[in-house]
Amino acid sequence: MAARIIDGIKIASEIRAEVAAEVKNMNAAAMRPGLAVVLVGHNAASAVYVRGKVKACEELGIYSEKHTPPESVSTEELRALIAGLNRRDEIDGILVQLPLPPQVDSKKVLMSVDPGKDVDGFHPMNVGFLATGRPGLVPCTPAGILELLERSHIPIAGQEAVVVGRSDIVGKPTAMLMTNRNATVTICHSKTRDLPGVCRRADILVAAIGRAGMITCDFVKPGAAVIDVGMNTVTDRAEFDRLFRGDAKREEIFQTRGSTLVGDVHPKVAEVAGYLTPVPGGVGPMTIAMLMANTVKAAKMRRGVEILSRA
Ligand code: NAP
Repeated sequence: MAARIIDGIKIASEIRAEVAAEVKNMNAAAMRPGLAVVLVGHNAASAVYVRGKVKACEELGIYSEKHTPPESVSTEELRALIAGLNRRDEIDGILVQLPLPPQVDSKKVLMSVDPGKDVDGFHPMNVGFLATGRPGLVPCTPAGILELLERSHIPIAGQEAVVVGRSDIVGKPTAMLMTNRNATVTICHSKTRDLPGVCRRADILVAAIGRAGMITCDFVKPGAAVIDVGMNTVTDRAEFDRLFRGDAKREEIFQTRGSTLVGDVHPKVAEVAGYLTPVPGGVGPMTIAMLMANTVKAAKMRRGVEILSRA
């Protein structure tokens, strides 16, 4: 039986509508959440992501501003910019778009964000809150993954969950969130022995690797929920054929653009899994939706207003 496809676009738009309603209520009480985005230099992909974030703010009634220091910026200059944003009352969320140029100490910069305004959830204080199951700001992509599972009524408590990837941005926080929801969680990485065998134990399998279509059917227990976080651009014809041979729609995209976006999960997994997030249209749209939710959460936490319980 084919997997049920989890529609990330639909779930993200539900969350955006909820956030817009929250913002409206806050406006009625003379509060307007505000997000400051810091975009350094001229990274084309980063510029696209930032545009999407600013546009989402506009759509949801969140105030936003963009700061664009030059590529040559120093760690201290960035820290000074952030210190100014930390002090401003109308700014509830600060997002530093990564990656930063090589001369900048990214960890030092992220450490300088006020943890109460850290809408990316990367500050060690928020990491600590998550690890100890206390309220805080949770990284957007992992929070989005939990929303996808919960809103698709996929049980988490008591389930075997396997997360492939141990990055601070996706793998580790996703594993922590599922542990806090009482799943039995295994984290895998490039040194894991018998990766397919470990993955086959999973009722919930999260792939956050960055390798096109690496998770094939032999990694997946029949009926498992498979969450594909990967975003990989395929330009090579042989690689395209390995993944999408016979898929007319993809063939058309590939012919027109010379590339196509693919996750870490091979499309054939849809024949084995119980649930599957597509790429595009699965986890991706959730990340911006959760950033918006985090900005409102930060605004409410700073003002002592009751917050909606999300991931
Ligand atoms: P990352 O920092 O590069 O981490 C990749 C992880 O995968 C590492 O832990 C690495 O293991 C592991 N890995 C690599 N090759 C492996 C292999 N052959 N077998 C087992 N594990 C392997 O990447 P990331 O930032 O977490 O992102 C992962 C993917 O998610 C990327 O495609 C990225 O574009 C995508 N992403 C999507 C969104 C979204 O909004 N949809 C957001 C963030 C990221 P080691 O630790 O041993 O090196």
